[in-house]
Amino acid sequence: MSVFSHPEFDNHEHLSFFSDPETGLRAIVAVHNTNRGPALGGCRMYPYASDEEALRDVLRLSKGMTYKSALANLDLGGGKSVIIGDPRAHKSEALMEAMGRFLEQLGGLYIAAEDSGTSVADLQVMGRRTRHVAGIAPRAGFDGQPSNGDPSPATAYGTFVGLQAAVQHRLGRGDLEGLTVAVQGIGNVGYRLARHLKEAGAKLYVHDVYAESVERAVDELGATAVSGDEILKLDVDVVAPCALGAVLNDDSIGKLQAKVVAGAANNQLAQSHHDAVLAGRGILYAPDFVINAGGIIDVCHERNGHDAAAVRAHVETIGDTLGEIFARAEHGSQPTGVIANQLAEERFRGKSQL
Ligand code: NAD
Repeated sequence: MSVFSHPEFDNHEHLSFFSDPETGLRAIVAVHNTNRGPALGGCRMYPYASDEEALRDVLRLSKGMTYKSALANLDLGGGKSVIIGDPRAHKSEALMEAMGRFLEQLGGLYIAAEDSGTSVADLQVMGRRTRHVAGIAPRAGFDGQPSNGDPSPATAYGTFVGLQAAVQHRLGRGDLEGLTVAVQGIGNVGYRLARHLKEAGAKLYVHDVYAESVERAVDELGATAVSGDEILKLDVDVVAPCALGAVLNDDSIGKLQAKVVAGAANNQLAQSHHDAVLAGRGILYAPDFVINAGGIIDVCHERNGHDAAAVRAHVETIGDTLGEIFARAEHGSQPTGVIANQLAEERFRGKSQL
């Protein structure tokens, strides 16, 4: 298995491989860049088919966190960890404690948060052995309401603010009254985003694979339910993907009628060049790793005392960052994803706290 010549290596600062035969723990921690601060990122548990697959995933995700945190103006670097194993079959308190012990050895270079396959409860178990876990403290949420650490409310609010910035830029509108928005996925983030939009006067179209989620949006938000086949093709102002990745692809982009794509789902572009394809069709794309950063902003503030007003103000900077990206993209005739990466690199390459 190659490491330094790995296609995803991209000058990672640090890689650690941990093994604990007693608990069966096998884990990799990747720290991509710490110029802005310690590397914060999720700890994913997944039954990787091979060590190579786990390494590729952790390197790719860790680099992504450097870009995301820099664009969110956080004093954090990028890192990620993976535990190789099936969370339903191999998870135990002893294994999570062993992971905590290993994280402690890194002395705070990397801070773990929950991710797919791990829960806040797992992170709390890790926290018995290390201080270097985040997103686990009960606190007041960014909206002042009690929160169990769920980042979804902040993610939804950031997506709402980002959507407003995109509408302002592409449609020249400062308000959302009567704006038509198609929301794909009415889960933790999608439902809350839809509620913000409703409160701002938008007209909603929704789809989810769970009928109960759709019914709730119809009953509580007056949304119109549409089929999975229709949701991305509707003649609406904005499409907000809030379910799964790779929804912007060769097939779907040609059928979009919306002028703006602004939603929370991770990895919306099937391939990196699809931002250029969107731009070519005159569709303004709000890069997912910029617009969905509310959650990591919220988690980061937990480390700094978590003042709800400060979190809210910080989440609102997502709108300013997107505004800068849109303006630069237009000025330089470049796709928004390319500009977002350039802006991130300016922010983390230009700053060193060490
Ligand atoms: P969630 O699981 O609560 O909601 C996702 C919803 O999408 C579910 O209701 C699910 O039924 C629905 N769905 C799945 N497949 C679908 C399909 N084919 N068509 C329509 N609906 C479908 O997840 P979430 O926390 O709301 O996150 C939504 C997206 O935002 C994910 O891509 C996630 O990675 C991303 N994201 C979430 C956060 C956060 O704070 N929760 C932060 C950053 C990014």
